[in-house]
Amino acid sequence: METLEYLLSIDINYIVIGLIAIFFTLEQILSTQFPFKERGKHFWNSFLFQVLFLIGNLFWAGVTVFSIDWLNQHEIGLFYLIELPYWLKLVLGVAMLDFVTYWFHRLSHKSALLWRFHRVHHSDTSMDSSTYFRSHPIEVLLWFGGSNILSAGIFGLDLLTIGLYFLILTPFLVLEHSNLRFPAWLDKTVGLIFTTPNLHKIHHDQDQHYTDSNFADMFIIWDRIFGTFKYKPTEQVKLGLAEFDEPRKQTFWYLVRAPFLTIDRKVK
Ligand SMILES: [Zn+2]
Ligand SMILES: [Zn+2]
Repeated sequence: METLEYLLSIDINYIVIGLIAIFFTLEQILSTQFPFKERGKHFWNSFLFQVLFLIGNLFWAGVTVFSIDWLNQHEIGLFYLIELPYWLKLVLGVAMLDFVTYWFHRLSHKSALLWRFHRVHHSDTSMDSSTYFRSHPIEVLLWFGGSNILSAGIFGLDLLTIGLYFLILTPFLVLEHSNLRFPAWLDKTVGLIFTTPNLHKIHHDQDQHYTDSNFADMFIIWDRIFGTFKYKPTEQVKLGLAEFDEPRKQTFWYLVRAPFLTIDRKVK
């Protein structure tokens, strides 16, 4: 437990910077699946989203910690009603956070309002590890604050569980968006339980039939259980959204305004 507490005391931003630096370099030297378009500019556009998120998070992190502390002090949530060893509560807690995230993600595709924010992440036509950053700050804060507080309230999760979830989730998300070649056998083995980079690329396909699939961030089993798992070879994936498929719609300034613009979905 002490090792875990030590790991969680490391600022997650340092982990993100380290991971992006490693994968960004790997993408540059190894063979990649999808062609890059103006890589420096692409990184810069993604990075500015992270800066916005960090500014917003100065406020939201406080609200989240305060709310979860309050819920814990009042012993609200399922895990307070059942006797389980703490390690098991940690494992189940991580799974439940991923479960709630799966449904929040599914809702973001279904609700026209949430999709306006979520499409910023999907708009990327040339993905690499920096796409991890590319999410509208309002969406991230809704998810980061809202869905974590909700999960803590329903399941009775503490801050250590939420910290552990992000510690595991961050490498997953960087890896899932990385522009590297991953073999299909990985999807047929590891991909039975976990979301592999190829499976997440299918989620980024322009064809809506595939965009609305493979919602899970960590455990692809949620998609398998709830019938949203789909598969197609990575070579057939065309990344992005057709309605964002022009250079001016790939800039930070356009994307940050995108949720407030009327942009109809182009069906292929
Ligand atoms: Zn999505
Ligand atoms: Zn993604």
